[in-house]
Amino acid sequence: MNHQKPSEHCMRPLAGRTAIVTGASRGIGQAIAIALASKGANVAVHYHRQKSLAAATVDACRQFGVRATAIQADVTAETEVEHLMLASTQLGPPSILINNAGLADYGLAMEMSLERFQHIMAVNLTSVFLCTRAAIPYLRRHPHARVVNIASMHGIAGAAMEAAYAAAKGGVIAWTKSLAKELASLRITVNAIAPGAIDTDMLAQFDVEEKAAIVDATPLGRLGTAHDVAAAALFLADPAADFITGQVIGVNGGLLT
Ligand code: NAP
Repeated sequence: MNHQKPSEHCMRPLAGRTAIVTGASRGIGQAIAIALASKGANVAVHYHRQKSLAAATVDACRQFGVRATAIQADVTAETEVEHLMLASTQLGPPSILINNAGLADYGLAMEMSLERFQHIMAVNLTSVFLCTRAAIPYLRRHPHARVVNIASMHGIAGAAMEAAYAAAKGGVIAWTKSLAKELASLRITVNAIAPGAIDTDMLAQFDVEEKAAIVDATPLGRLGTAHDVAAAALFLADPAADFITGQVIGVNGGLLT
């Protein structure tokens, strides 16, 4: 039996890499940022409004001996996204982009205003376009560059009362598959994660009974955690996932198969 100690590369396969995680102030993005840091990546912790939470994420990342910084931007604003990418280079050229920022919305489609519909599309889908386009000039310089888009189970199955959100996430999935083909020649892989019900602020509008109903319907019998999603993101970001592109990984406890 081989009793050699694991090498530094095995323990910290992302050492020396720079990752940008959008929406890393809390929830799934925060868990992904900390998970990437635990594997050695420097992390640009993007946030929108929650500056102090983003600072806490930065502190948690730094516990792993990596560099991390918080960068504010509205991901629906072209110039702010350009600034986000440029500012992240202070940590080294970014080679991992996690498009995680998102906004859920509940209500009847027939009662939704055009402004609300456009806002939901902008935060969930246009943001992925803007961030990816701005990051490509940096990503293309790295031989194992990664884009991971956080979509949703609803983008595959659809969801009553969440039509705009589901449409945007469906768009993220189609975008992921298209970009995977388009960027393959640059050795940039593009994959998506489609979470089910994950226990973050986004589920706050569900009451105890509604959450219990989701748990009942979930074969693995619980809500997902941000760490469940971060584990999938870490897998896709690892250099070992080099031959995986254009895929959608469900993290949903078996709710959608
Ligand atoms: P969350 O806790 O509500 O966090 C949302 C994040 O997005 C926050 O960091 C927020 O920044 C950021 N954000 C919102 N609007 C923004 C804007 N206009 N510009 C920039 N950043 C903005 O949500 P979560 O549950 O962690 O969700 C993360 C991702 O997973 C989202 O894409 C979501 O659609 C997806 N997802 C979640 C679930 C679930 O059940 N939770 C299921 C499927 C998919 P601030 O904190 O600074 O405001």
